[in-house]
Amino acid sequence: KKKEWAKLKDDPTKTADGEHVELAANIGTPEDVAGVLNNGGEGVGLYRTEFLYMGKNQLPTEEEQFDAYSSVLKQMGDKPVVVRTLDIGGDKELDYLDLPKEMNPFLGYRAIRLCLERDDIFRVQLRALLRASVHGNLKIMFPMIATLDEFRQAKAMLEEEKQKLIEEGQDVAESLEVGMMVEIPATAVIARQFAKEVDFFSIGTNDLIQYTMAADRMNERVSYLYQPYNPAILGLINNVIEAAHAEGKWAGMCGEMAGDEIAIPILLGLGLDEFSMSATSILPARTQLKELSKQELAGFKDEILSMGTSEEVVAFVKEKTNQT
Ligand code: PEP
Ligand code: MG
Repeated sequence: KKKEWAKLKDDPTKTADGEHVELAANIGTPEDVAGVLNNGGEGVGLYRTEFLYMGKNQLPTEEEQFDAYSSVLKQMGDKPVVVRTLDIGGDKELDYLDLPKEMNPFLGYRAIRLCLERDDIFRVQLRALLRASVHGNLKIMFPMIATLDEFRQAKAMLEEEKQKLIEEGQDVAESLEVGMMVEIPATAVIARQFAKEVDFFSIGTNDLIQYTMAADRMNERVSYLYQPYNPAILGLINNVIEAAHAEGKWAGMCGEMAGDEIAIPILLGLGLDEFSMSATSILPARTQLKELSKQELAGFKDEILSMGTSEEVVAFVKEKTNQT
């Protein structure tokens, strides 16, 4: 099986009916890029920048960040690299920020919420990213956006830093896509309004599922509620993809679900444009997609979305795609 996958390393991802979708990888450090390329990744769909901030006792400097971002961009050449700005808080703590303990860290002061308030930290990252943007095909996305106002504020700060750099005589990429993660249900519900202002969406199902089902993603006792194929989740995902396409934008997914064998046929049928997963899942996914017809799967959309349970969805998909 491994040999068969390897043959597809340099092939574009094509479905049985000739449709292309992008298979990208999730990474955490510049050292991960070699694995992405060895596994035939067409891009980086999620670069989690938290690791630059973790495991040390102070914030990373602009220069350290510039080096890391540039390294990833250069290694990827003209392939797209989606960098997510700092997503700290929740399960990821930074001791040196000395943040007060919260009752519900996953619902608390984290990610973009923290960055908009601590813009001294945020602007350093934005500057490093903008300076690195000339070294490849960079796209930036903001995590944990809940409201349009947050997205606008974050984008305005990015724009301000860009203007400052230009005034300082620094090179910055002329155009740069700016998107957001969809991981809070509120944004999936009114995705159409967001789609007018973003360049792309990347659906973060790890959090989207936990927030939609009100089930802690790390709590074993409620793990039965962590249901990627629940029609409620699929309906939100469908909303996001439809909204993006209605505004001429693209929609990707960077949660674990994007690399899942049962989810892939569903997501293909819903029209997802980019699937970002762990590097080792890329070749198996490309192999699976070769056998799937996007048009046929799109025809099942209404039926799947009107189902009542996750189990029904799974049984249906297995039957239609001959999975046992
Ligand atoms: C997600 O929430 O789906 C995601 C990709 O982000 P993280 O797992 O880093 O929270
Ligand atoms: Mg998340």
